[in-house]
Amino acid sequence: MLQDIISLDKKYYMNTFGDRLPVCFERGEGLKLYADNGDVYYDFLGGIAVNALGHSHPVFIKALKDQLDKLIHTSSLYYIENQAKLAQKLVESSCADKAFFCNSGAEANEAAFKLAKIYFYKKGMDRYEIISLDHSFHGRTLAAVAATGQKHYQKPYEPLTPGFKQVAPNSFEAVEEAVTDKTAAVMIELVQGESGVHPMDVEYAKRLRRFCDEKGILLIVDEVQTGMGRLGKLFAHELYGIEPDIFTCAKALGGGIPIGAMCAKDEIASAFEPGDHGTTFGGNPFATAAGLAVFDIYEKEGLVENSAKQGRYLKDKLLRLAEKYSGKITEVRGMGLLIGIELRPELAPVVFRRLFEKKFLTSLCKGVTIRIAPPLNITSEEADMFADALDSVLSEV
Ligand SMILES: *Cc1c(COP(=O)(O)O)cnc(C)c1O
Repeated sequence: MLQDIISLDKKYYMNTFGDRLPVCFERGEGLKLYADNGDVYYDFLGGIAVNALGHSHPVFIKALKDQLDKLIHTSSLYYIENQAKLAQKLVESSCADKAFFCNSGAEANEAAFKLAKIYFYKKGMDRYEIISLDHSFHGRTLAAVAATGQKHYQKPYEPLTPGFKQVAPNSFEAVEEAVTDKTAAVMIELVQGESGVHPMDVEYAKRLRRFCDEKGILLIVDEVQTGMGRLGKLFAHELYGIEPDIFTCAKALGGGIPIGAMCAKDEIASAFEPGDHGTTFGGNPFATAAGLAVFDIYEKEGLVENSAKQGRYLKDKLLRLAEKYSGKITEVRGMGLLIGIELRPELAPVVFRRLFEKKFLTSLCKGVTIRIAPPLNITSEEADMFADALDSVLSEV
């Protein structure tokens, strides 16, 4: 019973998530999630951009079961076939030359910070500063918090890890001004996800890339949310036509099994030598089997293409709703299947709640933007369902 679970949670689980939405899911299939009372929900958040294959994808589940029957974990003391093959997949389908696996997005970003720092350290250069952007989100570990440009995540943990500073997003001049001879890297999300789906301009990204090249500064792109086809290309940096020196990836990479990756160009990656970085769980046979299955299913089912196609379709519909309800929707943003619908501040929480009551799962960013990140295999009929639900909610509020 939901009430019993809530009581257990309140009594035993740390109160980091406060009152959650009053539902507990038991089982999922595709876009659908089944609550323990039998209610059916439509998962337009996809476990926060994680469940790119939807729930219980049969080919994915079979691959996981096959791997479970063979081996889960061995440690990095031995060669791991799936790990090597998943690294190959990531490298062959991106601008990177090498990959490193860990267990989460924050951990992938930590690895990126370490690689950026050690790269200059080994060159004998005193460059350690990392510039990131206001309204960014890079994770919950201490260095990731220091890079996350949101005061409420940082304040309680001061003094923060030194060497991090944030500047205004989408302003080339702001970065230019912040750079010193100690700057090692600039880290950005090409579309800021957590703060409400705020895309950077293509021109900004390109100019930043050129500037970093000129100054010998590394460009790190956090693709934890935007990666793995979310924006209609495998990685956001493809869409923007730039090549980062380092990029990180996690959320959708394991289709729900925890795994993160930090990928880099050879010249930079080679700064890591034996002993410089490591992990116990990262890239174990099970997690990397999940990653391989994700890639396999993406290719067989054309999911990156579907993300672009359904994303365009759904965004068009939402833009039409924005015209119809121009006094209620203030902006529709995003690419592929990462879309933010910004509403008048007093309406957003109401719309979010009403969508939930109509059994549509979304997230509410900063109290004003409804973010959706559905599975990449959604159909136009499913996209229609969401647009229709939003239409009906907006007509009532
Ligand atoms: C979710 C997210 C993270 C953190 O990932 P975790 O797996 O929660 O550590 C980092 N960066 C971005 C852009 C994210 O969206």
